[in-house]
Amino acid sequence: MIFSFYTLGCKTNQYETQAMERLLLRKGHTIGSFQDECDGYVINTCSVTAVADKKNRAVIRRCRREHPQAVLAVCGCYSQHDADAVRALGVDVIGGSGDREAFVEMLLTAAETKAHMESLDNALRRRDFEILPPGGLEERTRAMLKVQDGCVNFCTYCIIPYTRGPIRSAPIPLAVEQARELAARGYREIVITGIEIAGWGADLPGKPPVTDLIEAICQAVPSLRIRLGSLEPRIVTEDFCERLRKLSNLCPQFHLSMQSGCDTVLERMKRKYDTARYLESVQLLNRYFPGCAVTTDMIVAFPGETEEEFAQSLSFIRKCGFADMHIFPYSRRPGTPADKMPGQLGNAVKEQRSREAIVVAEEMSRAYRENLVGTALEVLFEERDGGYFTGHAPNYVKVYVSGEGLHNEIRSVLVKEVFRDGVLGEISE
Ligand code: SF4
Repeated sequence: MIFSFYTLGCKTNQYETQAMERLLLRKGHTIGSFQDECDGYVINTCSVTAVADKKNRAVIRRCRREHPQAVLAVCGCYSQHDADAVRALGVDVIGGSGDREAFVEMLLTAAETKAHMESLDNALRRRDFEILPPGGLEERTRAMLKVQDGCVNFCTYCIIPYTRGPIRSAPIPLAVEQARELAARGYREIVITGIEIAGWGADLPGKPPVTDLIEAICQAVPSLRIRLGSLEPRIVTEDFCERLRKLSNLCPQFHLSMQSGCDTVLERMKRKYDTARYLESVQLLNRYFPGCAVTTDMIVAFPGETEEEFAQSLSFIRKCGFADMHIFPYSRRPGTPADKMPGQLGNAVKEQRSREAIVVAEEMSRAYRENLVGTALEVLFEERDGGYFTGHAPNYVKVYVSGEGLHNEIRSVLVKEVFRDGVLGEISE
């Protein structure tokens, strides 16, 4: 049978989709594209914001309308969080954010029998790390490697700890074995991902630091580029930097989740650091990895955020000099403490502050890319983009070149100019 996937959300969701593809391929089924006529469609949902929920529902409705005869299956954080809403959309198979192997079994049974199938657990009761096969379809250049699940930080705006449960970590031998398998299958880059990778090891004997895991993976596959997923700032210490600096295949891009550049807002978010500690992490990374790309996420118009607090955030992000930023207007999440906070701001304020933050973010991104002009970057090429072939440098800057047939190749590129959302260059060998 032919199945296809539509994935919303984070790299962990992408990893789990790739794993479900592997499970189906191993059982002799085929993976088609979502536009094709398939026997079954799987939508792996995200629930990080109310906007994400809206997107989930739109994709589910469209798929149901366009493919009334096929099996429609939904899993992920949205169905984990609000199965009733998913059920009301006429979905055949409903799973949550865990137990993906059982979900694939339900999908196959429903495809055979046309029966309605559901299985949802209480995520907060999960204790084991679910071992899934890494890496999906072969033609990809970059593979996600999930090393951790769950989060116990309970930031006041976030639903994820309720949909993903407590921390569960992949033991080092498992992660190393999966990294070697991905290398053997021709991937050139691995992204170490999880829901909160800074929490890795908290549930393992002796509570080893995630640095142990990163070292082990880098040393196990020295010919692959290793990229880190989103990091919580407190993980960045002298020891963290000292040890990671020795890893020649670690990509010098650090996505250090910030959310706000104002201490009083960070307190209301219940983030576990203040701006001084955050800035210390940025400065440490710049000192140990000169020229590295520090990227981040920022929520604007959090409940009660005054003009003054927002102004503090804007001047703080300038101080950090991010290479790239993702800006999100605050999104109310029923069931979170922030949803009940006074001072909820209107869409006009959210849009205005998003615009202002994006202007600053683009200025900094441009300045970071201008500094690359005249330098050589080792680019992992992925795909054609209009008249160009594009790929990413170790600092995750997008690089455009003229050329053909470069998929999955790493080539040295001399940067000529800032171009579109990246840089334009010439292959120098
Ligand atoms: S760290 Fe905070 S924002 Fe991130 S998943 Fe955990 S609770 Fe959510």
